[in-house]
Amino acid sequence: MAQALREKGGVSGLEQGSKEVEKFVSRYELVGLPERIKWATASFPHHRSQFISNFCEGLSLTVQSALALAQVDGYTMPSFEDRYRAITRHEGSIQLVDVHEVRENLRSLLQQVGYNEDRLLNSVQKWEDDKGLLDLREIPRDVANILAKLILLTKERLMVPLNIKFPEGSPWRRLEDVPFDGFDFKITSMPTRPEITGSQAYFGGFRKRRPTLRGLFEYNDAYPMTFLSLISLCLHEVMPGHYFHNVVTDVMPDLGFEASIPTMCSPQVTLWEGVAQNTLNLLFDTRDEAYTEMARLFNISEVDVQIQCVIDELLDAGKHNGPILYQRERMGEGGVRDHAIEMYALTGPLPTKIMGWAKHPLIGPMYGVGYDYGNKTVARMIREHGRLEAAKVAFNTRGVVDIETFQELLSSSG
Ligand SMILES: [Zn+2]
Repeated sequence: MAQALREKGGVSGLEQGSKEVEKFVSRYELVGLPERIKWATASFPHHRSQFISNFCEGLSLTVQSALALAQVDGYTMPSFEDRYRAITRHEGSIQLVDVHEVRENLRSLLQQVGYNEDRLLNSVQKWEDDKGLLDLREIPRDVANILAKLILLTKERLMVPLNIKFPEGSPWRRLEDVPFDGFDFKITSMPTRPEITGSQAYFGGFRKRRPTLRGLFEYNDAYPMTFLSLISLCLHEVMPGHYFHNVVTDVMPDLGFEASIPTMCSPQVTLWEGVAQNTLNLLFDTRDEAYTEMARLFNISEVDVQIQCVIDELLDAGKHNGPILYQRERMGEGGVRDHAIEMYALTGPLPTKIMGWAKHPLIGPMYGVGYDYGNKTVARMIREHGRLEAAKVAFNTRGVVDIETFQELLSSSG
């Protein structure tokens, strides 16, 4: 069923599959399932039952959306606001991210290195052209070199100070003894999937009395990369972003079933994207230290490291604002595309990616908005509680958390 649906174009193919969707949903009793899971887990310790209840809310809206999209009688599309709130757990009014200051910051950084076009987009484009695009054949070697450095850096700056010890009988004594050697890197060619730049799939596994830590880091060659954007991608997808997050969750003893895999369109994924966008804040005590150390480690200039960070920040704003403009404000496709290109200074295939997410009924409000939202929430918690305390909770060493229970647990532990 899932495969057949995917071949028809995933969610956009649902209308043609009304009968199958209805049958699938009723076979597994998916409509009532979230409520039954909530009820069955209500007596779990507070943060765990809250996590499961939040997860069920996302699941319920996903099922309802699927039924509505498949035009099954009696189902209407949940509101944009409900979908947004289910994965962010946001309570106030839902606002567009204001990027004026971010743009001014980027403009002044680019000016410092001689790029001063009237359109910010043109300055970004020229800067990227001058940095140069990596040759596809060089990327696997670059990725290996970058990751070797990032693994050492993460060991020194996070794993050792976190001081996580495993119980007697575990294959490793401390977190820093875990080899982080289970991932493969693959370049794929997905010119028709402009919504994917890179991704990290975790398979885990267990063999010869130790976890195999298997993961696959994929990069879509339809996205041209500079050396700087490749470093940023490796931080996000692998170290200390998603792969590290997966491995720590995998090797922590005594986590419940919900630790198996982070789930799309849930408040858990908002935390995960927020963590992966905060890797520099998790590794370094100050931003200045982050820029200096990254520049030294990769033999690049500090300003360029900063410029790349701000470019990433604008992209996240686009992922957040695109769905709001298209789905809630009903701005037409051309309008959203022009706005995205100009305001977030999107180059290459990025406007197409942002547009794809903006239009998607689930990826837009139940995933795309989570990058900026998660990023800002995690950054705030790091400021308030310190990077190591925040990391301890965010990486699930005190139980599996989502964007809401992460904040609750951290605040209640003082
Ligand atoms: Zn991610």
